[in-house]
Amino acid sequence: MTDSLSPADRIRQHFSHRVINQVRQIIDLWRQLPERDWQPETLSELILATDKLIRYAKRFGAAKHQSLAVELSQLLMRIANGNSPDSELLEAINAIIIGLSKTALRHTDKHSSAAIIPHKKPVYIALQDIDQAVTMAEQMQYFGYRPELQRTPHDLTQTLEQRHPSAIILDHDFGSGGEGLNIARQLQDTRETPLPVIFTWKDDPPCLLEQIQALRCGGVAFFDENNVHAIIGQLESELDTAPVIAQKILIVDDSRTQSIHAENILNKAGMVTQVVNEPLQVLSVLQAFAPDIVLMDMYMPDCNGMELSRIIRQQPEYFHLPIIYVSGEEDRDRQLAAMAEGGDDFLTKPVSPPHLVATIKNRVARARQLRDLIARDSLTGLLNHTHLQEALQLAIRNASDDVPVSFAMIDIDHFKQVNDHYGHPVGDDVIRNLSLFLRQSLRKTDPIGRYGGEEFAVVLIDANLEQAAAVMDKIRKNFARLIHDHNDLRVSFSCGVSQWQGQSVSELIAETDKALYEAKHQGRNQVCTASSHK
Ligand code: GH3
Ligand code: MG
Ligand code: MG
Repeated sequence: MTDSLSPADRIRQHFSHRVINQVRQIIDLWRQLPERDWQPETLSELILATDKLIRYAKRFGAAKHQSLAVELSQLLMRIANGNSPDSELLEAINAIIIGLSKTALRHTDKHSSAAIIPHKKPVYIALQDIDQAVTMAEQMQYFGYRPELQRTPHDLTQTLEQRHPSAIILDHDFGSGGEGLNIARQLQDTRETPLPVIFTWKDDPPCLLEQIQALRCGGVAFFDENNVHAIIGQLESELDTAPVIAQKILIVDDSRTQSIHAENILNKAGMVTQVVNEPLQVLSVLQAFAPDIVLMDMYMPDCNGMELSRIIRQQPEYFHLPIIYVSGEEDRDRQLAAMAEGGDDFLTKPVSPPHLVATIKNRVARARQLRDLIARDSLTGLLNHTHLQEALQLAIRNASDDVPVSFAMIDIDHFKQVNDHYGHPVGDDVIRNLSLFLRQSLRKTDPIGRYGGEEFAVVLIDANLEQAAAVMDKIRKNFARLIHDHNDLRVSFSCGVSQWQGQSVSELIAETDKALYEAKHQGRNQVCTASSHK
């Protein structure tokens, strides 16, 4: 990737790196604040990081980043030292953080010469087999990571004394039997928060005892060292800095004191709350607020919590909504009867704040995972056909003159031959690699779907036709360089792109499909835009 850039371009590129890294840092700090109990030091760090973003954005000429960061800085000032913000302030800040992540320059935006702007911190690779380590490092670079090889246990421990990476890929027997595990254990002892370590094995998979030991020294996964793309996939989920969508809790309780108490506890944990003191209003609030979970008081004047839950459950859209009862009811039988009415858990008052927060966090996380499983394709984790179309519809609804929406369809070239020559499992690997590659190269907020067998589709939010085509073309070029399998297998794709300009979703899809056909027809391994064949 040797682009000859003008000095002015170089400066722009330098600042675009900085803007992106700064946004990453802000997202990360905002996520940590509730975990650190709104510690004033972390808050000042976040404010400083925001001010830095304002400066970099100014230098880069990123007006949207700049105005969002200015707004963020003002909102952060309203958080009193050591206190947590209320729901309104939380929501306002969350909205800006999400805005910032959406505005994040796409990795492939035209001001960057590299396909993907690398993460700032390196990832250490410490494998017994140096050839394999080199291959892994090469592939990781395509995905935007900064791999650094550590050749011996001595190198690794020395480097770790100087600088901690964002993650380590470590042979559990690095150097000699069990040495990798020892190094990791010593490293984690020096840290407040564990560093993600992906352990690898060669030839013999680890036994259960070794897996438990790995877990205890910060191991997040254990892979065959040849499984490079699975390792990169794991890295992606460990180092993902997309903003967390705040959990929304609906509190149904006739007592104002009790509900304010619960609200305070939950806001402190970074959760957004809404209170219903009049139980009969619950249905209208449910619809407007769309909570992740309901905290339900058992005994209220007009109706009781069980009746209310039964009515909520009668609506198909709330069938999976978790409901947790909170009550002074200690009678086990009545608790069970309440659970039978569609409650998911029963907490007995007084509930300790950490217990309440932990219960809600777990329930919501599980509920979201389930929802995700239903919406996603099992091979790639991308959105399935139906949900991608929904995402496209939603993007179009939110589109405006300022925020154009484009749509791209991708089809792998000569994929039948890949299956025929290398076998179906290798074909599956290629599909997985492409999905990983798309996820890493596009904005976190661009919906990506697996459209069918070896066909993918992407909604590019805030990109016009030229921008979308340039992004997809950069991805196409880089994907064609990737090596799949161990046999020097390279694969390309063809792509059609079109921009939404008022047409219906099905028209847009038909146009894009036509452009894709054009790309195939003209010789494959290329991107065609819908306008080019009009
Ligand atoms: P073209 O360049 O024209 O797109 O040629 P092609 O061979 O890619 O196109 P074709 O549509 O003829 O073949 C697609 C192949 O993709 C056929 C099917 O067996 C294979 N395929 C579809 N889904 C999967 C999958 O999940 N895994 C694997 N390994 N293969 C799949
Ligand atoms: Mg096909
Ligand atoms: Mg194909």
